[in-house]
Amino acid sequence: MKLIKKIAVLTSGGDAPGMNNALRAIVKNANNNNIEVFFIYEGYKGIIQRNIKNAKEVDVDKYIAKGGTFIYSARYPEFKKPEVRLEAKIILEELEIDALVVIGGDGSYMGAQLLHEIGVPTIALPGTIDNDIASSDFTIGYDTALNTIVNAVDALRDTSSSHNRFLMIEVMGHGAGDLALYSGLATGAEIIVTNEAQKTIPEIIEIVKEQMLVKKKRSVIAIVSEMIYADIKAIAREVESKTGIISRAMALEHVQRGGVPTAQERVLASLMGLKAVELLVEGKSGLALGSISNKIVGTPILEALKMRGKSNKEKTEQFNKLNQA
Ligand code: ADP
Repeated sequence: MKLIKKIAVLTSGGDAPGMNNALRAIVKNANNNNIEVFFIYEGYKGIIQRNIKNAKEVDVDKYIAKGGTFIYSARYPEFKKPEVRLEAKIILEELEIDALVVIGGDGSYMGAQLLHEIGVPTIALPGTIDNDIASSDFTIGYDTALNTIVNAVDALRDTSSSHNRFLMIEVMGHGAGDLALYSGLATGAEIIVTNEAQKTIPEIIEIVKEQMLVKKKRSVIAIVSEMIYADIKAIAREVESKTGIISRAMALEHVQRGGVPTAQERVLASLMGLKAVELLVEGKSGLALGSISNKIVGTPILEALKMRGKSNKEKTEQFNKLNQA
């Protein structure tokens, strides 16, 4: 087994609060094992552009309570080309970097897997607010984004109630309904719409009428996952014209991606960062880290990419018992 002396780390794809905590933990545990760490800036692009800095030059503790990623992220589609990945391998070898840690979503996982296949020892950490990586109960960024959404919905509830309104709020999730479902549960939203629990416009109108015209609720909030409806503002206009209730729609957009990482986020990201170094020291490669039943475990990246997301059917039924009663 090759002794690991130098490792590099990058963050790739959509940024997520907690990435900084993972980076910090990687540096700390590498120090514990006499391993030198290099930061690669702006994802995979940073390898090719040799935008690489020794972690010794950075005070990682400074970012413990900061969202985003201090080594920046980028999308770099060129990395899908085998010749670009080969160039990356050569550059890493030139710099005598023995292994790579990639923090990102499923696209970044694919890049990590392909590097592993050409002989670059690689460990991947799930960094995405969407919670759409099935090999981990929770991804780095999800808890903070969920809390950001809950705070926003609470504020929007205040004003919707004051003005007797129906409000449709679109949240991220990239196909996974966790952010919509759990923020709906936490805020008492009357309607949630996810891929698993879709609703037609007439169904939405019926709930709005029942809640506001029959039960005399001052407001109704619908939280909907992104990429389900083409135009939520048009739906709000239709609800308004068919019910006479003032209706609005908005997407929370990128506010969900930033902000101070929650305590739970910091802990999860730190534990994953520690484990990444531990596995590299043991000579492991091609693994995706996940938190499963509160334990950090490694799953082959290829397997992780093939795993189907868990079903939220039961939770959705529980939601209906709570929020439409
Ligand atoms: P995320 O990692 O958040 O899912 P993307 O899907 O945009 O975000 O992927 C992030 C980056 O990972 C891409 O810009 C590219 O550099 C790399 N990547 C994505 N898909 C592949 C692939 N099939 N092969 C190699 N690299 C990939």
